[in-house]
Amino acid sequence: MIQWACAECGGPAKWYDHQPERQWRHLDTCQYRTVLHARPPRAECGEHGVRVVKLPWAEASSRFTVLFEALAIEWLKEASQKAVARQMELSWEEIHGIMERAVERGLERRKAEKVAQMGIDEKAFRRGHRYVTLVNDVVRGRVPYVAAGREQSSLDGFWETLRPEQLEGIEAVAMDMWDPYVSSVGEHVPGANGKIVFDKFHIARHLGDAVDKVRRKANKLLKAAGDDRLAGTRYEWLKNPVAMEPKDRREFAELRKSGLKTARAWALKETGMALFSYVYERPARKHFRWWHNWAVRSRLQPMIEVGRMLKRRFENIITYLRHRVTNAASESINAKIQWVKYTARGFRNLQNFIHAIHFHCGGLNLAPATH
Ligand SMILES: [Zn+2]
Repeated sequence: MIQWACAECGGPAKWYDHQPERQWRHLDTCQYRTVLHARPPRAECGEHGVRVVKLPWAEASSRFTVLFEALAIEWLKEASQKAVARQMELSWEEIHGIMERAVERGLERRKAEKVAQMGIDEKAFRRGHRYVTLVNDVVRGRVPYVAAGREQSSLDGFWETLRPEQLEGIEAVAMDMWDPYVSSVGEHVPGANGKIVFDKFHIARHLGDAVDKVRRKANKLLKAAGDDRLAGTRYEWLKNPVAMEPKDRREFAELRKSGLKTARAWALKETGMALFSYVYERPARKHFRWWHNWAVRSRLQPMIEVGRMLKRRFENIITYLRHRVTNAASESINAKIQWVKYTARGFRNLQNFIHAIHFHCGGLNLAPATH
């Protein structure tokens, strides 16, 4: 008599019957497609009733053997879904099913570890229409969480995956100045006020946009008077002069010294960003007070507005000096997400995109379980 084990508790169970025949795709044998046929036995456990027993060659819901699925996963890490589908003769649904199960396994196996510094970012799915919210583990360079949307609820789900000691262990959260995220962190992370760090590149973007608004308006006026010094210089004002060709740098220096409104706006931007090179908080605060005064008296409306906004947000800008963190995902994570988007023309929905980010950027153990 074979002794069966209950699939639920592993305890002894009595043979009950066999299910109808099922098939599992296995690795090709020589060059031939190989399919396993079997009628899985069911066994009866005193506590859990009649269950299909655990099969040594496949996971419960899979139509592939463990070895086949493991190979597909290894290939999917290296090549596009389309290429793997073609080479292994799998449909889109089968590819997505393999990836989805892999991610579920990985998430279930993941240990509760401390994420000390994180960045919260959004990524567009299909150019500007819909978004996902990403949490980056800045220290380990991986993505522990992805969810649809960029509302407060999109991020709220993340905190629910953490234990109390993990929430306590969070030291810094970098993000754009985006109120739904601010509220979510505020409600879930202990001591959030001292931990939220508004991303300095996001701040640089706001300042750059303000300079460009000044430039566009000034350019119109100058042009009307037959002066086209500002035409086509939009990017000059955004670049760092250090990175310019010597000739361009000389021309730009002339422009900067010209006393044009744009030159003043540019100086405000550069001086404002100098905040981030301070080491100590006290002189940084002093610098900012002085800068804010200058900005709001500049008579340049866009600079006045950005100055006011930065003042309102200042307590979570200065936190940068304590934590030195930005929300930008690592180069390799960004490159992978770009690659996922590029190779995933078959994505029919957001959920597949989310699975693919978990699959490629989650740092998860994806391999199917063997018995
Ligand atoms: Zn049982």
